[in-house]
Amino acid sequence: MTKNRSPLEILDSVLGAISRGGYASLARSHGLEQTLAGAAQRGLEEAPAAPESFSEILKLAQGLDTQPLAARRNRLERMQAIVERLRSPAMFEVSRPAARPVAKPANVPAPPATRKSPAAKRASSGSGPGLKDEVKWVKGVGPKLAGVLERLDIHTVEDLLFHLPVRYDDLRHVTPIRDLVPGMQAVVVGEVTRMGRFGRNGRELVVRDSTGELTCKWFQGFERVRAARAKPGDQVRVTGDCRQFRAQREFHHPDIEFAEEPSHVPGGIIPVYPLTEGLHPKQLRAAIANALQLGVEGLSDGLETVKGISLPPIPLGEAVRRLHQPPDDSDIEKYLVRMSEAHERLRVHEAFFLALGLAIRRRQTAEVTGISIPDNDTLLAPFISNLPFELTGAQKRAIAEIRRDLVQPRPMNRLLQGDVGAGKTVVALAAALVAVGAGYQAALMAPTEILAEQHFQTMTKLVQGLDVPVALLTGSQKLSTESLVPARVYHELARGTPMIAVGTHALIQEKVTIGKLAFVIIDEQHRFGVEQRRTLLSKGYMPDVLVMTATPIPRTLALTVYGDLEISTLDELPPGRRQVQTVIAGDGSEMKLWDAVARQLAEERQAYVVYPLVSESELIDLKDAERGVKEITSHYIPGARVGLLHGRMKPADKDKALGDFRAGRTQVLVSTTVIEVGIDVPNATVMVIEHAERFGLAQIHQLRGRVGRGGAQSYCFLVPSAGISAEGHRRLQVLASTNDGFRIAEADLEIRGPGEFLGTRQSGLPEFRVLNLARDLDLLQSCREAAARLLEADPGLQKRENGQIRTLLLERWKGKIEFSGVA
Ligand code: ADP
Ligand code: MG
Repeated sequence: MTKNRSPLEILDSVLGAISRGGYASLARSHGLEQTLAGAAQRGLEEAPAAPESFSEILKLAQGLDTQPLAARRNRLERMQAIVERLRSPAMFEVSRPAARPVAKPANVPAPPATRKSPAAKRASSGSGPGLKDEVKWVKGVGPKLAGVLERLDIHTVEDLLFHLPVRYDDLRHVTPIRDLVPGMQAVVVGEVTRMGRFGRNGRELVVRDSTGELTCKWFQGFERVRAARAKPGDQVRVTGDCRQFRAQREFHHPDIEFAEEPSHVPGGIIPVYPLTEGLHPKQLRAAIANALQLGVEGLSDGLETVKGISLPPIPLGEAVRRLHQPPDDSDIEKYLVRMSEAHERLRVHEAFFLALGLAIRRRQTAEVTGISIPDNDTLLAPFISNLPFELTGAQKRAIAEIRRDLVQPRPMNRLLQGDVGAGKTVVALAAALVAVGAGYQAALMAPTEILAEQHFQTMTKLVQGLDVPVALLTGSQKLSTESLVPARVYHELARGTPMIAVGTHALIQEKVTIGKLAFVIIDEQHRFGVEQRRTLLSKGYMPDVLVMTATPIPRTLALTVYGDLEISTLDELPPGRRQVQTVIAGDGSEMKLWDAVARQLAEERQAYVVYPLVSESELIDLKDAERGVKEITSHYIPGARVGLLHGRMKPADKDKALGDFRAGRTQVLVSTTVIEVGIDVPNATVMVIEHAERFGLAQIHQLRGRVGRGGAQSYCFLVPSAGISAEGHRRLQVLASTNDGFRIAEADLEIRGPGEFLGTRQSGLPEFRVLNLARDLDLLQSCREAAARLLEADPGLQKRENGQIRTLLLERWKGKIEFSGVA
C-alpha cells in the first residue's frame, strides 16, 4: 500500500501523525528513523527537483532513534518544516514581494482588515492584563485552559507570546480540487452539491468547483454541527488536510465557512504551534491572537541603543507579532527556514542576552573568593614516583595548570579534555592529592555506578601505600579502603577527614555532608544536569571544579559559549598505544568478522559486542543484546564464554558480569551502551558495534576507546544495519579514517547540530527559540564584544538607559545564575 504513495506523502503523513497531540506518542514510537530515512532516500532518487531538501531530511532522520526525546522532537519539527516547504506551491513560484489577496467567491466576505479591535485598543492602553499577568486572564483562556498551557511551560501572557510556531501553513491561495494532493493542507472554495450521513453521527458534504469534486467528512465535533446546516447550492470555503480514501480525495473535519456568514476561518499564513494533550490548535491560535491584541509594545529589549550589534529594523514586539502572524505578503520560505527579519530580530535578542549573561558570569567568577589550597608535594611526589608509568608531557602540563589554579583564591572552573585513553583520571587524581595533602577533601562524581566503581578501583590501586582513604558512594553500596570501615564513611566525610570520595548521584544526597570539600571532579559532565552539579558544589564552599570530558568541544564553540571555562587539553596519548584499526563490516562479511573475533579469543584476548540504545525503555535493546548472546554462542563462535551486561540489571549482577569479564572468566561481553564510558580492561582487543549508524560519531569514538588500552593491536568493527544509506556510510567512514577525537567531534557537531551536542538544558544556559549555537557563531561573537563594551561602561548596569536590559537579563537567566553584582 505504501508502494504507490510518493515519498513526500509518506513523510508528510508520518510526520503529521507523530506530531499529533504535541508529540504525545513519540516516546512510544519505534522505527521512525527507518521509515523516514527510507522515504527521504526514495525522494532523493525520484525527485531530482529538490535534492537538498530530501538530503536534509535524510540527515535529520539518520540516528534519529537513538536521540533523546527532546532532540528527536526537534529534528522531527525541522523535517516537518522542510516537508511543508516542499509541499507548498510557493516552492515552484518565484517569491513575490507584493501582497496577493486570497481568491474567494465574490460573496464570501473578506476577513476584517485590521487586527486590532476597539476593545483591544482599549486593552493595550492599559485596562487589559499585562505581559506579566497570568495567562488565564487572556480572552479565550480561563483557568482550565491555563492549566493545560502550564504543561507547555506557559504561565504568563508573555510566555504565551513567546510560544512560537514550529511552522506555517500557507493558506493564502485557493487550491483547485483537481490539484489536491493527499497530505497537503489546502483551502478549497466551491458549491455544495450533495449532503449525506454515515455511521451514527457522521456528516458528509460534496463540494464542487470547476475542476472536480471533493468529499468532506465530519465524524464528530463542532464543525460537524455547522456542516449539518449546509444546503445544496451553498457557497462554502473548506480548509483541511487532504487524504486519499479509496479512489477519492477527502477532507476530514475541515473548517467550513459559509458565504453568508462572517469569516471565522483564518486565511493567509497560518501558524502551527507545538501542542500538548487536550489543547486544540484553534484554541491556541485564538488565545495567542487575543494576547497579541493586548499589545506587544511592552515587549521591548532596549537593544536599539546598544552599540556594535546590527539589528533588523523592527522592534522586538513587532518581530514577535510577525512570527505569529506573518503579513500576507511575507516570503513564506524565509519564515519556514527561520530566516525572516522577525526571526533575525529575536535571534539577536537571544544572542545578546546570552553573551551578556556569560560576560557577567565571567566577571563575577573573577571576583569571587573561594579556597586557596596551599600548593604541596606531600602526597603528590610519592604518588608520581609510585606510578607504574611515566606521565606524558600533556599530563604534566595539565597537572601544573591545575595546581596553579588551586592556589588561587578564585574558584577554579576548568575543563580537562582529552581523547579516550589519554589518561585524564591520573591527572584528576594527582590534583586531588594536592587538595588532600593540604588537609582538604576531594570528590569525584561519575554518571554511572560502573564508572564510579571503576574510578574507585583505579584510584585505590594508584594511591596504595599513601594512606589516603578513598570512599565509594553509589546508590547500592558504600565501600572504602582498609583504612576506613564502611560504617564510618559518612562520619569521616562529615568530620572533614582528608580523603577522596568517589560516587554517583549518591554523593549529592542530602544526608551526605562533606565537611572540608575543596576540590570537585565531574566526569563526563554532559551527562549531568546543572542542578546536580550545583548540589555537589554546594557541599563545599566555592570549591575548585575540574570537569573531565572525552567529547571535545570545538574551540570556537568553547570560547564563545563557555568563555568562562579554562581548558586543559591532553593532546598526547601515553606511549605504546596503537591506533585502533576500525573497519566497516560490509554486507555478508559477518562470518569473516566473527572469524577475526574468534582468532583474537584464541590468542586469549577478549571482545566487546555493543548494541545501541534504541528505545527509552531499554527493553527492546535488551532483546537485541540477548539475541546477540545466543547467536554468538550457538553460531558464530561456538563454545565462547559470553557474558551480558545491561542497564536494567541489578547492581550486584552488573558487578558480577563486569567482574567475570575483568577476570577473563568470560571472553566476550555483550552489552547495551552502559559500557560507553570508562571501562578499562586492557586485555580486550576487539569491539563489535552493531547498528553502528545509530550512534553519534563521538559516542562510537568513546566506545572504541575501550579497546587498544593494553598495547596490543586492537580492532573495532562497525556493523551497519541492513539498508544503511550512502550518507550514513559516509559518516561511519569518518571513524574509519581518523582516531582524532577533535576531528570527530567537529564532524559530529556538524551532523547533529549543537542543541544535542551541548544540550542547552544541561549547559546552564537560557533556552533559545531561534538561536543556533553552531550556526550563529559570528553573531555570538559580535554580541560578546558589544556586551563587554556595555559592561565596561556600566559594570552593574546601573545607568538609567540600561535599566531595561538589566531587568530582562535577570529574567532570562533567572535561576540559572546569581547576579549578585547586578541585582
Ligand atoms: P581516560 O579517562 O582519559 O580515557 P584513563 O585515565 O582511564 O584515560 O587512562 C587510560 C589508561 O591509561 C589507564 O589504564 C591508565 O592507568 C593508563 N595511563 C594513564 N596515563 C598513562 C601514562 N602516562 N602512561 C601509560 N599509561 C597511562
Ligand atoms: Mg576516563
